[in-house]
Amino acid sequence: MKEFGYQRARDVTGAVALLAADPDARFLGGGTNLVDLMKSGVERPARLVDVRELPLDRVEPAADGGLRIGATVTNSDLAAHPEIRRHYPALAQAVLAGASGQLRNMATVGGNLLQRTRCGYFTDVSGPCNKRAPGSGCPAVAGEHHNHAVLGASHHCVAVHPSDMGVALTAFDAVVSYESADGPGESPITDFYLPVGDTPHRETALPPGALITHVSLPAAPVTARSRYRKVRERASYAFAIGSVAAALDIEDGRVRDARLALGAVASRPWRARAAEAVLTGAPADGATFAAAADAELAAARPLPDNGYKVTLMRNLVVSVLTELAEGDAR
Ligand SMILES: Cc1cc2nc3c(=O)[nH]c(=O)nc-3n(C[C@H](O)[C@H](O)[C@H](O)COP(=O)(O)OP(=O)(O)OC[C@H]3O[C@@H](n4cnc5c(N)ncnc54)[C@H](O)[C@@H]3O)c2cc1C
Ligand code: SF4
Repeated sequence: MKEFGYQRARDVTGAVALLAADPDARFLGGGTNLVDLMKSGVERPARLVDVRELPLDRVEPAADGGLRIGATVTNSDLAAHPEIRRHYPALAQAVLAGASGQLRNMATVGGNLLQRTRCGYFTDVSGPCNKRAPGSGCPAVAGEHHNHAVLGASHHCVAVHPSDMGVALTAFDAVVSYESADGPGESPITDFYLPVGDTPHRETALPPGALITHVSLPAAPVTARSRYRKVRERASYAFAIGSVAAALDIEDGRVRDARLALGAVASRPWRARAAEAVLTGAPADGATFAAAADAELAAARPLPDNGYKVTLMRNLVVSVLTELAEGDAR
């Protein structure tokens, strides 16, 4: 592991200034991803700027009736927060479905959104990978890709984004706010993660050296009736091979409002807008839910060894929507 400096940031302006002064510096949240990547040689920062003592550790009410989540709120505190559990239950469920209790105690909201892919070629610095070494190639396309992307990928990279939290935040139209050397900025989470195209190494709309300060959840009545379901290869402590965050508002047997996002199928949490269009205004029944899933998955382009994900996601979407509808029958 390369030698590195360590500094604790005391305020947001100072944290941003420290990174602006040193392009080889990185922010340190809980360190649960960054430190692993430093050990494997994927990341080689000269300095770590620890952000955990910044005053960004609160979940607070926002002026529009939604919530403002500080970037250093731990995953554990987020999942346990009463307002999150009451108004955005799928978010609490998504966070609790990730990692382990010890990891969630360390991991922060900012770090979770910026965690890197678990593609095995990405973390093996002895071989090529377009995301880690642009232009070197993507061995996953012809190699091991059973857990890789079926939506929105390119032949330059077929990796998936690993965050569970990000899937629920995407369904709920969260907005990511940051502070950079050029001042504050924000991005809807649906634009925050960039399309893969031929630049898989460019992952987010965050300007270089910018600090995520908070994530805003808009108020929307539909989010209170939401659910997150994750499928993984073992019962716990594993990343998703497919996941769904869904919210459904039903009136007189018809869908009044629907939110749907899919996880572990694309380079970013995947907002299922085609499915939402089918759901909105339609009867809240199995035929509609299957048509919605099919509408979204029509764009799927599976690789030889991950076609199972299309079937899995169809069944998962129908199952989660059915559960929500049955819990919401009125
Ligand atoms: C064994 C294991 C199992 C896991 N299982 C799951 C799982 O099932 N689901 C899941 O979603 N995740 C899982 N994780 C990943 C875990 O959730 C992430 O490692 C964690 O959320 C990252 O948060 P952190 O604060 O530790 O980030 P760090 O490791 O500190 O940082 C990650 C990245 O974010 C940057 N960063 C941190 N904070 C900020 C900020 N405020 N502004 C700008 N940049 C910032 C860092 O510079 C770094 O590039 C697992 C991890 C492990 C080790
Ligand atoms: S899928 Fe992406 S991360 Fe994995 S080897 Fe290909 S370029 Fe690298």
